[in-house]
Amino acid sequence: MAIYGVLLGPPGVGKGTQAKLLAGKFNLTHISTGDILRDAVNKRTPLGLQVEEIMKSGKLVSDDIINALMEDYIKNLNDGFLLDGYPRTIGQATFLDNFLPRYGKTLNIVLAIDVDDEEIIRRLAGRRYCPTCGRGYHVIYDPPKESETCDNDGTKLIQRDDDKPETIRERLRVYRERTAPLIDYYREKNLLEVVDGSGSIEEVHGLVLEVLERKGIVDKA
Ligand code: AMP
Repeated sequence: MAIYGVLLGPPGVGKGTQAKLLAGKFNLTHISTGDILRDAVNKRTPLGLQVEEIMKSGKLVSDDIINALMEDYIKNLNDGFLLDGYPRTIGQATFLDNFLPRYGKTLNIVLAIDVDDEEIIRRLAGRRYCPTCGRGYHVIYDPPKESETCDNDGTKLIQRDDDKPETIRERLRVYRERTAPLIDYYREKNLLEVVDGSGSIEEVHGLVLEVLERKGIVDKA
């Protein structure tokens, strides 16, 4: 069975890391709205210019912009997908529910990764990325071989503007207010599986695989 999944959880919980591991293992496309928007900002496209300040502030881009962007991405996919950072509001979730069937797809799993706020702040504050190749690191949990330098290309690592402490608090507030209600939304649809995200990257990956196997979405290893 193909995976048509959503990864849900506060910023910094490890959605992107887990999505990349799953995309590498199974035949599916990892779609991160944050990565798409950051790329647009870096390339100074009209979309990028429109969303740059909103992203810097830790607030959400409007549902209309994001929904149109996602429909465009998803409608052309032939294989499974994992959505990372979308949907983030009830409006986005209902839009997704309405448009997927038009392209012959339906969600079959929503994985909510759960970690307490203190750990999230520690994780976000330690995140770094390479502005050349985009690879992500963490100063404690996933450090580069040489301090603050990308293993792939030697570029000096930088911190996302919105991973700075003053913005982290706002992103968590926005998550609680706008995105956390999706947990009940998907629980009522019988799609929700909560995974403890407090362990190591490999431990969390193991828990995610267990869920996918138990639900019959992937075969047992
Ligand atoms: P992320 O990398 O997922 O933490 O996203 C970074 C920023 O991009 C967010 O703080 C928002 O400003 C914007 N963004 C990403 N995904 C969405 C979405 N689904 N809806 C609205 N804004 C989004």
